[in-house]
Amino acid sequence: MKGVDLLVIQPTPFCNINCSYCYLPDRSNPQKITIDIIERIADVLVHDKLMQPTLSVVWHAGEPLVLSSAFYSPLFQALESKLAPEGVSIQHSIQTNGTLISQQWCDLINQYGIKTGISIDGPREVHDAYRRTRNGKGTFDQVMEGLSLLASNGIGYHGIAVVTEKSIDDPDAFFDFFYTNGFYHLGLNIEEVEGTHKQSTVFSAGLHEKVIAFYSRLFQLYMESDKHMRIREFDMCIQAITRDLDLLDITKLTTQSHQNKAFAILSVDYRGNFSTFSPELIGQAEPKYNNFILGNIFTSDFLNPERGDLLRLLSREINQGIRKCKKECDFFSVCGGGAPANKYFENGTFNSSETNYCKYNIKIPAEIVLSYLEKTLQII
Ligand code: SF4
Repeated sequence: MKGVDLLVIQPTPFCNINCSYCYLPDRSNPQKITIDIIERIADVLVHDKLMQPTLSVVWHAGEPLVLSSAFYSPLFQALESKLAPEGVSIQHSIQTNGTLISQQWCDLINQYGIKTGISIDGPREVHDAYRRTRNGKGTFDQVMEGLSLLASNGIGYHGIAVVTEKSIDDPDAFFDFFYTNGFYHLGLNIEEVEGTHKQSTVFSAGLHEKVIAFYSRLFQLYMESDKHMRIREFDMCIQAITRDLDLLDITKLTTQSHQNKAFAILSVDYRGNFSTFSPELIGQAEPKYNNFILGNIFTSDFLNPERGDLLRLLSREINQGIRKCKKECDFFSVCGGGAPANKYFENGTFNSSETNYCKYNIKIPAEIVLSYLEKTLQII
């Protein structure tokens, strides 16, 4: 085992806003993580030899900024003091809804070089349709204030946009918004069916052709741009496809998604419960799978969890699903077998292949990129 690529820590399940597509079941719970949990995470990582030279730590889900920047300093120091002697350097990231960015937060971001991801869906009418406060008000203005504070502090930020029925109406406005508002990178997440969110506006409205038109225009704008803003979905396809073309050995063409490998991603909640595979799984109300909780860091280590039976069950079903993907899907070498959470929440089982999510977020962009490479570069 190579070790943990990504440690996802949930400092609190609470979120200050109430997006209509949110999948988190516990977002009104204001409890928070404690320093002894952080220290124990580091101890168990060392004990299980799961460190790599750089550990990426993402603070995510609920909203990490509902806790003050002063709350985080001792947590960062605790991780540092345990892992630096082991030769591990830590790259912190936050994924935030952007409504609570303050000068104190900017100072902490600069002090620790925290990578800052903003969840924002695009122009006001697109964003405010879904990303609202608990009183139903749009959050666009607050997020834009946050972006401007980040920029005035010299902090770069990337965006993650949920692509909804509203986004696909006007790809030019969508692209321009991100391109002209300082984002250096953009990830597109088609609105998913996940956890407590049972229906996607994109999947349910028969919008397949419109989604293709949206991605096609976006790709065209991207290719014509100076690319100071990278778009994750297109870059991943281009890299996967051009890498494949360089290789002669067909067995090396496949990649395995991080979400498919046990302990490549490790998720720990505010109580010290832990899980692996897709970070969205932990804490979802699924009694058959013990809410995807493998154990608690105070009573077990990661590699030998209390629920070793559950780890074996999840691994077996997820691997069966990957084998199905490999057998059935032309896009396996681009995708590596998809995200277990999408398979489970859409198909009702990990032992499955295609989902709407992969159809819309992987296959459509990959087909657009492939057809561009065929026409433009004439290499296929
Ligand atoms: S695109 Fe879908 S069906 Fe194909 S490998 Fe990925 S998850 Fe499996």
